[in-house]
Amino acid sequence: MKIIDRIKNKSPFLSLEFFPPKERDQWPRFFGQVERLAELDPVFASVTYGAGGSFRDNTLDIAAEMRKRFDLKVMSHLTCVGAREKSIAEYVERLLEAGIGDVLALRGDMPGNDSDEIWKDFRHASDLVEFVKEGWPEMGVATACYPDAHPESPSIDDDLRWTCHKFNAGSDFAVTQLFFDVRRYRDLVRRLESRGITDPVLPGILPILSMASLNRILALCGANIPPKLYLELQEADQTGGDEAVRRKGVEIARRQIRELLDLGAPGIHLYSLNNADVCLDILTGLPEFGD
Ligand code: FAD
Repeated sequence: MKIIDRIKNKSPFLSLEFFPPKERDQWPRFFGQVERLAELDPVFASVTYGAGGSFRDNTLDIAAEMRKRFDLKVMSHLTCVGAREKSIAEYVERLLEAGIGDVLALRGDMPGNDSDEIWKDFRHASDLVEFVKEGWPEMGVATACYPDAHPESPSIDDDLRWTCHKFNAGSDFAVTQLFFDVRRYRDLVRRLESRGITDPVLPGILPILSMASLNRILALCGANIPPKLYLELQEADQTGGDEAVRRKGVEIARRQIRELLDLGAPGIHLYSLNNADVCLDILTGLPEFGD
């Protein structure tokens, strides 16, 4: 059963995102975190993928192990920038052999030099969606979307156009980039609906662990945070440092999830940061997931 069939049958649902540890000696700690979070019975767990294919074996090995050890439904992220069709085909075959039947099809972040050479066989995530759908119709395929618009997009409308294009190319559902203003998610879903796209859009929620990590992540992905929230976090930082920021972050994430569910979001995709404690703190007090 593809993930899309699962999420259509369960609401609200929880999904979790993990990043693979780089070194094998970090595996025991990593799987300890996964084990604790598997108790929450997520509808699926996704594993990120190094852009340009770096660490891709890590993604596959970790994803396969998560499925085997914890019986999780796993989705592998897959980026296509700089990739050849042949290597993508091999990867998809290996996923299927490992019992993983879903991918999050991504372009990946552009390397510094924007030369024609890097495009190779795929230019956009939609090319990857089409390639996988055509070659392996049994494979579930999801894509990314951006409540604050992708940072390279000239406008929200332009980004929306290409998000629709990914759905029309065959994306089963989409997972959003992290965001903090719930109205941006609502607007994105409404705009998609007005263009006839009613497939599930999973809101991606980021736990905030410290000002330093928040600033780093925002700079990397180009998402926005409302000034009022940022000030609240800064105030917490000044009075109680990282621990107070983390507490405030838990409160913010919980509020955001509550508002999203009240708006009718089908479920929540939590960026776990491989940190079971913070995820469990956020979900405690939310009867849908934690209690
Ligand atoms: P695209 O959909 O190709 O979009 C990129 C830009 O091009 C956008 O501005 C879009 O509007 C525009 N565009 C799209 N299609 C067209 C078209 N046909 N013609 C003209 N313009 C077009 N990165 C990783 O390296 N590994 C990961 O595991 C990973 N996981 C992620 C998970 C999520 C949920 C999200 C939101 C992002 C993730 N990323 C990951 C980051 C992602 O690779 C970057 O955001 C990347 O810059 C864009 O990827 P995309 O798939 O959205 O690209």
